[in-house]
Amino acid sequence: MMMTFISLCSGFTQAADQRLKLSEQEQAFLASLDVIRVCTDPDWLPYEAIDQDGRYIGIMSDFHQYWSELLGTPIQLQPSDDWQHALTLMQNKQCDVLSSAQDTPSRRSYLAFTKPFIFYPFAVATQPDNTFIINLRQVTDKHFVMVEGYAGVDIVQNAYPDISLATVNSAAEGLKQVETGLVFGYIDTVPSINYQTLKHGISHIKINGILDQRYAMSVGIRSDLPLLLSIYNKAIAVTTEETRQQILNNWLSLSFHQNVDLTWLWRMLIVIAVVVALFFYRYLLVNQHNRELQRVNKKLEQLSQRDHLTGIHNRYYLDQAFQQELTRYKRYQHGFTIVMLDIDLFKQINDSYGHVVGDDVIKQIAMLLREHVRDQDVVARWGGEEFLILNPETSLDGARTLAEHLRRLIRRTPFTVDKIDVTVSFGVTDYRAGEDIETMIQRADSALYQAKQSGRDKTVVF
Ligand code: GH3
Ligand code: MG
Ligand code: MG
Repeated sequence: MMMTFISLCSGFTQAADQRLKLSEQEQAFLASLDVIRVCTDPDWLPYEAIDQDGRYIGIMSDFHQYWSELLGTPIQLQPSDDWQHALTLMQNKQCDVLSSAQDTPSRRSYLAFTKPFIFYPFAVATQPDNTFIINLRQVTDKHFVMVEGYAGVDIVQNAYPDISLATVNSAAEGLKQVETGLVFGYIDTVPSINYQTLKHGISHIKINGILDQRYAMSVGIRSDLPLLLSIYNKAIAVTTEETRQQILNNWLSLSFHQNVDLTWLWRMLIVIAVVVALFFYRYLLVNQHNRELQRVNKKLEQLSQRDHLTGIHNRYYLDQAFQQELTRYKRYQHGFTIVMLDIDLFKQINDSYGHVVGDDVIKQIAMLLREHVRDQDVVARWGGEEFLILNPETSLDGARTLAEHLRRLIRRTPFTVDKIDVTVSFGVTDYRAGEDIETMIQRADSALYQAKQSGRDKTVVF
């Protein structure tokens, strides 16, 4: 898995590679060195670290071992406890080379920097359910953390002076603070976030934004060793893109591979969750739909039994009521009667006052009828300005009395705001054994016709 460009164990110094084209001074300087002392961040995988056995590992380690072979000079790791410690060792000249570092003004007092040779954009890791961050300026109200002493802290803070940025001692600490919701985001490069989340088993985290800012990594050289700086620049210059990619792939494919597994698991879980949610949603929808359907059907049934204009029952309802009465009659011989009524000379009302007023008259009559019949009586609109009242358990006399009562009431009632005089003619009859409803209605109709014929505003009983 790890590339090895081992030269440091060979025990003797080889000549520098011809490709480097070192000057005599540089060659002499190199020859004067037994080893090149390297300091590194002990905990910044996949870039660099010191493993449990005290070995220098990571991307930068592979680069340095490659360069060591080019230079023919072994490297020697100077152990450090943390990044700050590595910087202190450099300041104290206990190291010649700082494995990798970002060029920052504050470091120039004791470090010189080679040309940058790897670039990594900064990324923001947050809890998975947050929306994608395109620009940190969107989220100035949130709290971010970065690892203390990393040059990235200055780079990010300078680029986004308004964000709240605190530091932590390690990537693991920062990522855990995000996972537990203590802070909103952890800022580092994509490879380190990937690596550290895997290493520390932090799962409730996702890379949620890539910043415009990036690390431009150089090798840091003791500022009092300018020849070493030019030597390293030459080593970097002859490092081919192919070699670079080989080294990067070695380390990034490792974390990438593991990451794919985890991503796969996450995707599976997300797919399952989405499917379950969809089913549940569908269940809710169907349920809601059914209730809505029941409601609409009920409403439809009500509507189908009611007359639109007046709100009283319609013929459809009346048919059902007649069937009920017929059944009752057959079983218990309980008689019933009907009162049919038709507004007199209604055409004239329409003609004189207009159709809208005509409608109002019809409505007012419907209301009046409904108010003055018994609860069990059914008042229905029979046709345009005709109504039919079904009176269960009522004798012919009773029906006549009702009709007369209604006739007088209507005659003395002023209708609509125009106070129109309205009269109505009535035809009354009762149900007779064996006949069908139609026959009974025709008889009522004939009685009504006779009421009209004999001068209107009359009740005729057949
Ligand atoms: P009569 O019944 O006394 O013989 O005379 P009439 O003028 O009432 O004659 P007829 O019953 O033939 O005419 C009824 C008129 O009622 C015809 C129609 O234009 C009108 N009409 C029917 N339905 C409506 C309605 O819903 N609104 C209004 N404004 N007019 C209606
Ligand atoms: Mg009529
Ligand atoms: Mg009429």
